[in-house]
Amino acid sequence: MLTKESIEELERQKYRVVGTHSAVKTCGWTKNMINGEGGCYKLKFYGIMSHQCMQMSTSISCANRCTFCWRGYKAPVSKDWKWSVDDPQMILTKSLEAHHKLLVGYGGSEKANKHAYQASKDVKHVALSLTGEPIIYPKMNELLDKFHKDGVSTFIVTNGQYPEQIKNLKPITQLYISVDAPNKKLLKEVDKPLFEDYWERLMQALDYLAEKKARTCIRLTLIKFINDVEPENYAALIKRSDSDFIEVKGYMHVGESRNNLGRTNMPIHEEIIKFTQSLMPFLDDYEIVSEHIPSRVLMLAKKKYKKEGVWYTWIDFPKFEELANLGVEFTSDDYLAKTPKTGLSGKGTWGQMQKHIKERFLKENEHLFVDEKTNELSFYED
Ligand code: SF4
Repeated sequence: MLTKESIEELERQKYRVVGTHSAVKTCGWTKNMINGEGGCYKLKFYGIMSHQCMQMSTSISCANRCTFCWRGYKAPVSKDWKWSVDDPQMILTKSLEAHHKLLVGYGGSEKANKHAYQASKDVKHVALSLTGEPIIYPKMNELLDKFHKDGVSTFIVTNGQYPEQIKNLKPITQLYISVDAPNKKLLKEVDKPLFEDYWERLMQALDYLAEKKARTCIRLTLIKFINDVEPENYAALIKRSDSDFIEVKGYMHVGESRNNLGRTNMPIHEEIIKFTQSLMPFLDDYEIVSEHIPSRVLMLAKKKYKKEGVWYTWIDFPKFEELANLGVEFTSDDYLAKTPKTGLSGKGTWGQMQKHIKERFLKENEHLFVDEKTNELSFYED
């Protein structure tokens, strides 16, 4: 899949290539969390421990060339899988090895919190969303089984160009589809898809997402002046998917996307709030739950996740793993946990969140606290 030149380019960008088609890269939020500088938005929204998260992909190749993506032009694109298929156990073992190796420097760092670094050796979450389209890997279900057996939760982000693979996916902790434009014409401009029937594929993918019983999410990436239009049409696509959650996120002017877009295409957080509010009249079943200002993202959830006035958008990870490993039928309702802090800026109290976090993670993460300056979860120093 990769030429010598593209492997070198990826390694220069701090990716580590695993086998012939997978890659790992340390997420900036994993590093921040180890340094005591706060966790990612998925910690705040869903309870992912950012310092125990591995970011990777099982396919560096993709069927889109999205203008907002940080991938380089040397990254492979293809409609079909044309490569050898690496063994899922090898991918899991070697990815973890590469992930730990990338973090090893924190072991001797003055700045790093030693509790967080120590805990990072026990990976609890995998984000299959690094680069490329992970679900075209033909043995994805086998790999998912292995992660779940090892007590690792799975988040997958797909661009919706492979509906049959979405249909055939086993239950995963949270499955995302990126909806990058509100109409067919704009999707072609934003995503530059290889498939001619890209719109029909996305529609079929949304229909299959609606049939999923485990947690699902629609991700919007807003590019100012380009796709931050037609909220009614976005809402229609979201309703079609019947997703449990919605994330409305701002485009970040990073990586190779800087060749396609300008800094002015990056919306500020207030613009994300404004656009999200314009969606609300068309989304009766949803409410805005939370925000993460550093990532310029808002999270919405179906109202059913609010029980007696309290939001339950966090994940009971051990419960999910238990259910997934039993192989029984279950739904998103079966692995919910209370969300410690919700609301837009200024709402909710730090004390409440801190108490909840400490209660829930007392054993594993007794050094966690909420940093009032950065607004994020962090660690107590000794
Ligand atoms: S969930 Fe995503 S943003 Fe958060 S630590 Fe993992 S890879 Fe990074």
